[in-house]
Amino acid sequence: MTTTNDNIEKAIQQATQPQKQGHSTRAVHGGVKRHKAYSALTTPIVQSATFTFKNTADLCDFMDAKLYGGETDREEYGRYGNPSIWAVEERLAALDGAEDAVVYSSGMAAVTSLLLTVLRAGQHIIMTDDCYRRTRQFCKVFLAKFGIETSVVPMGDYAAIENAIQQGRTRFIISESPTNPYLRVADMGRIAEIGKKHGVLTVIDATFATPINLRPLEYGIDFVLHSATKYIGGHNDVLAGVICGEAGRIKALKDARGVFGNLIDPQAAFLLERGIKTLGVRVQQQNETALAVARFLEAHPKIERVYYPGLPSHPDYEVARKQMSGFGGVVSFEVAGDLEATSLFIDRCRIPYIAPSLGGVESLIEQPALVSYYELSTEERLAVGIKNNLVRFAVGIENAEDIIQDLENALAGIPDPKLEREWERHFRR
Ligand SMILES: *Cc1c(COP(=O)(O)O)cnc(C)c1O
Repeated sequence: MTTTNDNIEKAIQQATQPQKQGHSTRAVHGGVKRHKAYSALTTPIVQSATFTFKNTADLCDFMDAKLYGGETDREEYGRYGNPSIWAVEERLAALDGAEDAVVYSSGMAAVTSLLLTVLRAGQHIIMTDDCYRRTRQFCKVFLAKFGIETSVVPMGDYAAIENAIQQGRTRFIISESPTNPYLRVADMGRIAEIGKKHGVLTVIDATFATPINLRPLEYGIDFVLHSATKYIGGHNDVLAGVICGEAGRIKALKDARGVFGNLIDPQAAFLLERGIKTLGVRVQQQNETALAVARFLEAHPKIERVYYPGLPSHPDYEVARKQMSGFGGVVSFEVAGDLEATSLFIDRCRIPYIAPSLGGVESLIEQPALVSYYELSTEERLAVGIKNNLVRFAVGIENAEDIIQDLENALAGIPDPKLEREWERHFRR
């Protein structure tokens, strides 16, 4: 019989050679399996709010190790960590090629914790536009209360990023790749270079890319962040967030998390680890399906415009091709029609659910004008770059043929704008 220690040895050997392994191998085996419970293959859900000590000497050994930076393989209290959480953190670090990772209760918990931990009053952030609405809101509304100023610069304009730097004051450049909803792709190397040149930390929210399609740390980016609620969890059943980076910085974030208290629950960590195992196969299929959907839509007469970084018509096609191994599972497009025709099309789809979010096994569809920008008028939406006929389609893992057939059927039922114009010309005044 193999002893538990042998298994740990084997896991350590595997985990120390992660660069040689493929994504799916890392998604299933990455990280050191430090748990020792019952020779279980899966990581147990350690549903415990606190952790006990055998006696006072045991307690003092632990405290000494913590104080003097020695090795400990345990926690003292659930707000500081938990074996179910360590497992998923190590797995995610292995996937992103990072020294370490810290997991939070949501993607926004990750964003807000990173910024609150590092920033001081009076500092400055640069952010590219077309970024996650709540991230922008946190910076513009909440950080502004501490005198932290945020400059928003156009995505893809690297001179604008550099020009926005205020020496001695700018602390972060924050970008996303691909962005929501226009799937803009930032050039990782150029952003990292600007950051290094000016001593500014760089952060990429790579939620839409996943570590399968893009690994920003390999280009010299300081922090990569994901809403693990999306592809990483992958089943629309758990909220989580993660930040990967250099060990010392991640340790500081973990210490701060112990103060903020926004760590993930052990049950949710278990679901996340379970989801991660299929990340490679899910994302590969979603990449393929989304590309097929994008090509289908681009050729369809009732579609005005398609945004997908895997299409040569996309402004960031070349950058995406250079640095991504797949273009992701989200396709945005504009229906040839108004708000109502677009809603009619969405209502006629049978496979995707109408819901915010993306990255799960179920296809989801939404009309950003009515989800994220409901309270705005058509003009106000246009001012923030959201058209009424815009649709965001996040493919799931259903068969591509079925998804395309469904879209085709749904499009067949909405008015054809070309025919409408013909009728207008011939029969109306
Ligand atoms: C969803 C999302 C977030 C926020 O994540 P939550 O897990 O919902 O808190 C941040 N960034 C991007 C790009 C997202 O899609």
